Amino acid sequence: MSDSTTHLYAQNGDPAFPKIVLPGIPNLAQIDVYESNGGYGALKKAVGMQPEAVTDEVKRSGLRGRGGAAFPTGLKWTFMPKGNEKPKYLAVNADESEPGSFKDRQILEFNPHQLIEGILIASYAMGVKTAYIYIRGEYYKWFRILETAIAEAYAHGFVGENILGSNYSVNVYVHRGAGAYICGEESGLMESIEGKRGYPRVKPPFPAQNGLWGNPTTINNVETIANVPAIIWNGAEWFAKIGAQKHPGTLLFGVSGHVNKPGVFELPSGTLLTDIIYNYAGGVPGNKKIKMVIPGGSSMPPLRGDQLEGVRMDAESLKVVGSAIGTGGVIVMDEDTELTNVLLRIARFYWHESCGQCTPCREGTGWMKKILQRMSDGEGKPEDLDLLVRVANNIEGNTICALGDAAAWPVKFTIQRFRKELEEEIMRQAKSAA
Ligand code: SF4
Repeated sequence: MSDSTTHLYAQNGDPAFPKIVLPGIPNLAQIDVYESNGGYGALKKAVGMQPEAVTDEVKRSGLRGRGGAAFPTGLKWTFMPKGNEKPKYLAVNADESEPGSFKDRQILEFNPHQLIEGILIASYAMGVKTAYIYIRGEYYKWFRILETAIAEAYAHGFVGENILGSNYSVNVYVHRGAGAYICGEESGLMESIEGKRGYPRVKPPFPAQNGLWGNPTTINNVETIANVPAIIWNGAEWFAKIGAQKHPGTLLFGVSGHVNKPGVFELPSGTLLTDIIYNYAGGVPGNKKIKMVIPGGSSMPPLRGDQLEGVRMDAESLKVVGSAIGTGGVIVMDEDTELTNVLLRIARFYWHESCGQCTPCREGTGWMKKILQRMSDGEGKPEDLDLLVRVANNIEGNTICALGDAAAWPVKFTIQRFRKELEEEIMRQAKSAA
């Protein structure tokens, strides 16, 4: 086995600062380049282990999901029933559609084989014979890259029948969505793969019991799965030491909004938010002050710009300051940002993407949009803020899927944390409309 510090899964040498999923090796999307840098080495190692030992390694590493909920990955895998009486499925969620989230496509573009290798290892661990990558319809370029990479992996004997000469067989398919945000919700995603309209299902039963076509299914995010080869290659202890103890590893932070150098940065979990904004993303244009930051994609509770000092970017640290890591999509807004317009934009998105099954979500998102439009048109009143909170409270927790909460939280928490600023904006907008 080669030295782990020179292997692609841990480039840059410094174990405290590895690049696990975006190692920056030129042409890594080509299988020959991937293999010559040690790629598919972890798969070879994994098929020599007992499947339970592979799951155990992932469990002990502390890897948590990178798609929003930060659920422990190895634990999720153990929910899959043992035995072979029913087919089992793995569905990888590449339906990256949350506003402010654009990190998974970096893996699809620059390191697709590590995702495929992770899928093969995860499938082996769970006894899955068929894996799907569900990719959002708009990601056509990345769909093509994936198709090419999968064809290469078949040609090299890593996917298909009796992989690497073992008695284990697995097929991998890419399934394109048709552009609905709700198909990123795991049960909406499964409905869509089954060829139906992407309506989220009532849970329980959960996918591990009743997933695709009623069979056991695990759904994992792209970045989550792309971490698996590094864990198998370097070992659980290596991974567990990187970044924040309770949410270890590196995270892909997609930084957008009012920054000089927007982009995706792979950094250890627990990195200071101010470091990400000022050192990696180049600070705010014109050295303006920051008014608000949404730390994990548009549905996460926002933070005040004057309270960013000391905030660390991992699931547990963000919980302490009343937010969540979500997808690591950091949206920065400077002091001149009109928050009513931000909320209107967000509310319009969730209203448009609501599938309409539940009344609180279907109607509530529309009401929030109308009230915010009224404010933006200069016809709002400060009391409208209370009305918005009441609507948001009636959506939150009363719906089939998390889109309801995703729509309610930005409105509710922005009002809670920026009430004075919003009241001033409403008065100002009313004055300029008069
Ligand atoms: Fe559909 Fe909204 Fe209900 Fe989710 S919460 S099932 S998106 S109506």
